[in-house]
Amino acid sequence: MADGITGVVHLDPQEGERVRGAAAGLGTDNELDQITRPELMEARRTGEVALVHSWELVTAVDGPGTRMTMFLSGCPLRCKYCHNPDTMEMKTGTLEKVDDVVKRIKRYKSVFRASGGGLTISGGEPLFQIAFTRRVLKEVHDAGIHTAIDTSGFLGSRLRDEDLDNIDLVLLDVKSGDPATYKNVTGRELQPTIDFGDRLAAIGKRVWIRFVVVPGLSDDPANVAKVADIVGRWTENVERVEVLPFHNMGKDKWQELGLNYTLEDTKPPRPEDVEAVREVFRTKGLQTY
Ligand code: SF4
Repeated sequence: MADGITGVVHLDPQEGERVRGAAAGLGTDNELDQITRPELMEARRTGEVALVHSWELVTAVDGPGTRMTMFLSGCPLRCKYCHNPDTMEMKTGTLEKVDDVVKRIKRYKSVFRASGGGLTISGGEPLFQIAFTRRVLKEVHDAGIHTAIDTSGFLGSRLRDEDLDNIDLVLLDVKSGDPATYKNVTGRELQPTIDFGDRLAAIGKRVWIRFVVVPGLSDDPANVAKVADIVGRWTENVERVEVLPFHNMGKDKWQELGLNYTLEDTKPPRPEDVEAVREVFRTKGLQTY
């Protein structure tokens, strides 16, 4: 599996065999079946190819207007409530060439223009296969299409300043405000997300924040207050906060993968409790939904 930090990945099956999964059928007509492993590693390093988990065309989520959302495989976090645990490791998806992906996205330009939409790169973690993400963002943005990334911010330092110029909107998940709770929820450190948020604030980048209320995990009032304190520093560039109730629809996927799902007995939060969390953000002057 990928270690999530260096970007070194080991595809399974190895030797360049095409990996098929949820994206099969939407895949490409390229010749990646024949690629050798060293060629594949080089192509991944340059961003020529990436492992794409799946695609979706959605409206009113993942950014404004109609979005073409591309889910990339690979994520350094291990969120206990992850809905797409099959994207965590670099095992599921279709190897796709950057040129094919860009061509496909550009075909929807008129839909994006009519709806005020665009491309959202999600995952998994869109910054995990950074070279590919960088190239797609540049080419799509250069074509006049609105771009967004849906990220935990953990790998935000991988984005160069010029990459940020090619991103119109950042959907930033702040999964907890207390460092120990963040570690418990995700298995990783909170600080990189704060650092990334600070950097986005410094350049006035448009940001939408997401926070998931998980009873017994992230809903402690002290933790919520800390999330609101962090986001409250970014009121100039955060356009909205989305507070989302946990649901355990991802459970079956965890079990299919043979992973230990620890939220089996966790119920969704009560609507009034979610609303109370929203109020905490509103007291910071943040537009909250
Ligand atoms: S950051 Fe997203 S994709 Fe990664 S483990 Fe967490 S919920 Fe899953």
